[in-house]
Parts: sequence; structure tokens; C-alpha cells
Amino acid sequence: MDFQKLVDLYGELEKTASGNKMREILSDFFKNVPAEDIAVISYLTLGQIASGFDDVVMGMAEKSVTKAIAMASGTDAAKVQKILHETGDIGLTAEKVLQKKPQTLVPLGKLTVHELFEKLHTIAGASGTGSQEQKMGILSGLLQKTSATGAKYICRIVLGTLRMGVGEMTVLDSLAIAYTGSKEAKEALEKAYNICPDVGIISETLVKQGLKGIEKIDVHVGRPIQMMLAQRVDELHELEDKIPGKWQVEGKYDGERVQAHKDKKGEIMLFSRRLENITEQFPDLVADLQKYIEAKEFVIEGEIIAVDAKGKQLAFQTLMQRRRKYDVEEYIKKVPVQLKLFDVLYLNGKAWLHVPLEKRAEQMEKFLTKNKTIVLTDRIVTDDVEEANAFFHTMLKQGYEGIMIKSLASEYQAGTRGWNWVKWKKEYVKEMADTFDLVVVGAYYGRGRRSGTYGALLCAAYNEKEDRFDTVCKLGTGLTDEQLAELPTKFAKYKVEHKPARVTVQKEMEPNVWFEPKVVVEVLAAEITKSPFHTTGWALRFPRFVKFRDDKKAEQATTVKEIEGMK
Ligand code: ATP
Repeated sequence: MDFQKLVDLYGELEKTASGNKMREILSDFFKNVPAEDIAVISYLTLGQIASGFDDVVMGMAEKSVTKAIAMASGTDAAKVQKILHETGDIGLTAEKVLQKKPQTLVPLGKLTVHELFEKLHTIAGASGTGSQEQKMGILSGLLQKTSATGAKYICRIVLGTLRMGVGEMTVLDSLAIAYTGSKEAKEALEKAYNICPDVGIISETLVKQGLKGIEKIDVHVGRPIQMMLAQRVDELHELEDKIPGKWQVEGKYDGERVQAHKDKKGEIMLFSRRLENITEQFPDLVADLQKYIEAKEFVIEGEIIAVDAKGKQLAFQTLMQRRRKYDVEEYIKKVPVQLKLFDVLYLNGKAWLHVPLEKRAEQMEKFLTKNKTIVLTDRIVTDDVEEANAFFHTMLKQGYEGIMIKSLASEYQAGTRGWNWVKWKKEYVKEMADTFDLVVVGAYYGRGRRSGTYGALLCAAYNEKEDRFDTVCKLGTGLTDEQLAELPTKFAKYKVEHKPARVTVQKEMEPNVWFEPKVVVEVLAAEITKSPFHTTGWALRFPRFVKFRDDKKAEQATTVKEIEGMK
């Protein structure tokens, strides 16, 4: 397919302020995409060239992209830099500069979507000496082969700022409508996406093999599975109704969730809650997994916590120091970690998702050699609320966050927040206070002490049913002066000209600045009240900033349904 067709689609999507309209445009477009292009186009629509977990990084700084624009247009790099300074956006800069391209630079023929995709992969793959020049050369060639508007989007893709407002669910929805004529197929696609979160594979399978092919998609070692999530209750007594049968009650740790995969070749990969590859951050853990888990192939899950010399859990912030690319060896010693293992999802050639938890737990006891860094979660088996409550207090005394109550008979439900897992945290027993993970969708300019930065952030919950972000509070309390001062820089990357299509807002709440829904913040609030000013229909009272949840994607924020269940 000619890339210009995709450019026209991007143009239409960029103008759209409604999620439904966006799905309509996308599904109409998908109907005419040839089977061999559908995967590529699915990635590119998300502004990516591979699925998020594939760890493909373009590796180009803004400065190199600016130079490539200069090369492609025969303009002076300093002039391009000046325009970038004025527009503040690499895409608009490329468009502006290339519109004025001298006639002597004849277009080099048509750029196809496939050629673009391959060349972008070559850019990502180039490393070592001379690679920056090579990357610039390829990019400049691409920019010469496309229209000025095409150049705008290519530069944004390269720097990861395409900001079209399209999410994975938007693509799945639109595919369902395009290829099966209805939204009903969405359920099957979502189910497949939960065990194969790769829109490229899903779209290609759908187009080539139909829904039958989609139903056959299974666990694949090396490809992360969307993680199973927990519900919350207001009273521990509700457990009796919510989870029939016996429960496995486990300690709940405040660390980083990890899914570890070991493939046939013996290679181990670690994936975060956002399904990003974090293997290189934890070489110590990788070595211990090799040593202490006796299995040829596995997919297991646990919580990584930072511990002191006695094995006592340290704060989440301490663990976050391990989130780094450099000085990894030094920090292995500074911040030792422990893995609290709680699940096995695949073992030696077979998916274990459908095996009841009781059996999965037995299996973990079998394959784990006793050691200090990889240990099973603290646990008891019971169906008695009082016993669960006593265990909860034991866990709090040991410095943990609370308990997880899991149905002993349950399957592992990938990507699902069902009643088979329930969380009970210490915040729940304090009066009314509860935490929410909300998506920042806009900001208001600050006044007085806060002038020059933002005074408050507009926060939204995720409306899972409609795949949109509905607002629920204005957040201005709890941030330190330092955090406040950093807000404009932190959010610059996500700034967009108009309201993102999947965000809904009441007139009264319109912010001064809009953000693509990407950043998640944890917010503590005293109460939930009905509100005509927020599109969830609810407002949080006395919201307080707790921390940034960089481990969560926007679609993993607290949902509107959860808020309704908590009020
Ligand atoms: P969620 O993961 O439910 O969206 P969250 O990331 O905000 O929410 P919590 O609400 O505190 O976290 O609880 C769920 C998380 O608790 C899991 O994702 C996991 O990281 C962590 N966790 C800690 N201990 C356990 C355990 N024993 N079993 C499962 N998860 C655990």
C-alpha cells in the first residue's frame, strides 16, 4: 500500500475529537487494507513498529532527526533547529521545512508502507560506530520519498510522539467491525489479546484465518501474557459471597510485578506490569531463576521487592532505584531484591492457565529449590474470614501491604479483573481513605507561588466499556515544590493541541493544556461523591497525590466501574 493513503488516514484521525468517529474511520480504512499489510498498518497506527514488549527502540535523538530533515530538504541544520524552537514539534517542523523543498530535489518515487516499515526497522537495528550517520541517512531518504505531511508523521513516529489518540483497544474494536461486520467479535479478539498482546499478530490472524484462527491463539514463551488482576471489597466479610470454596490467602507486597519467561534455549526474559522487557535491570534475578527453578521452559509470576540484609522488605521507592540502564551491577549490591513467587502459567510445553490454583501452587513447591532470593509468597489456605483477618494483621506486622485472597479452584484469567482474586490493603481499614490510579489528561496553569508551572492536573478514570477516559478530579495537593516545578517538563512529551478523542470532559472542567492519556498517578482521596462536573458522574473529595505510577499504562488505571463499586 502507498504510504500516502496512511498519511491521509492520520490526517483524518488527527482532526477527530470523538472516539466513536475514530473507530468508524479506522474500520472503514481497515476494510481496504490488503492482508499482507494489515499487521504493519496496525502497528503504525499506534505509532509503533513492533509490539510494545518487543523492545525495538529507534535510538534517534531530536537533534539527529533535525539533521535528517535538513539533509532531505537541502536546508541549513541551524535553520531547521530554529523552526523547531518556534513550533515545539518535530512533525510540524518537518512539514514546514519540506513544503519549501527546492524543485531540484525531485521525489524519489512512491514510498510504500512496507518500505517505510522495513527502513524504520533498519534505523532501529543500527548500532555501534557510525550508526547515527546511518540512521540519519536512511531517515533523510524516507523524508525525500514522501510528501511534506508524510514527513510530519514519519518524524513523529521516529521520536515516539505520534499522539493520534488511538489505543490498542481502538484498533481491536475497529478490526472487529471491519472484518466481522460487528462489535460482537470484539470479545474473542480481546480474549486473544489477553494472551497475545500484539496487535500485529492479532490483526494478521484475523484477516488470514478469521475468528477460528483467533480462537486458536495460545501462550507463547517469550511473549508476555496480560496479567490477572484483583477486585476489591469494602468489608472482608464479603469474601464469603464473592469467593465460594477455599481460599489461598497470600501476603501482598509493595514491589514490582514481574512475569518471567524461560524458553527452550534456556534464555530468561522478564516483563513488567506494562509488559515491557525489563530483563536487563535484573541480571541477579535471572541468574537465580536459572539456578533455583528446575524446569526446561516456564512462565511464572511474582512480585519483586527490595530487601535489607535480613530479608525485610524495603520501600517501593528503594526498589525503583533498580529501574535503570546504567550502573546496574553497582545497584545489584546497593539494592538487593527478592522475588515472592505466586504463579505458574506455563510449564515445559504446556499452558497452565486452566489448571486450578491449588495444583499450580503444588507445582511451584515442587520445582523451586529452597533459597533466599526466590521464595513462595507467605500463605495460608482457609475459608474463614477471621482467619484471613488474623493473617492480614500478621502480614502488616511484617511490614507488608496487606493480603491477596485467591480462589483455590480458580484458573488464571489473563488480563481480567474478576472475583477470583481479591485484594485487601491497610488503606482499606483506615477511615474511608482509598487510593486510585488515575490518568492525567490535562492541566491548569498555576497562579502565585505556582505560576510558571501547572497548578493542578485534570485526572480521569478508564471507562473500559467505551474505551475512553472520563474525568473524576482536579489534583493539586500532595506534590512537593520540586515535583511541581518538574511538571511542565515531565508532561511536555504528551502535550496535544486539542482534546484527545478518547477523553471526555464537561465544559466547566476544560483544562488550559491537554495531554495524550499516558501518565498514571496514584491518588489518595477521602470520599467519592456524585458530581455533574465530571464525566464519570463522580468526583473524588480531597484528592492527594501519592506517586507517579510509571509501571502502569493508561488503560490499566482504575476503571469507572471500580469507582462505582467503591462509592
Ligand atoms: P492492579 O494490579 O490490581 O491494577 P495495582 O497495580 O494498583 O492494581 P494493587 O491494587 O495494590 O496494585 O494490587 C495488585 C498488585 O499487587 C498486583 O498487580 C501485584 O503487583 C501486587 N501483588 C503483591 N503481592 C501479590 C500476590 N501475593 N499475588 C498477586 N499480586 C500481588
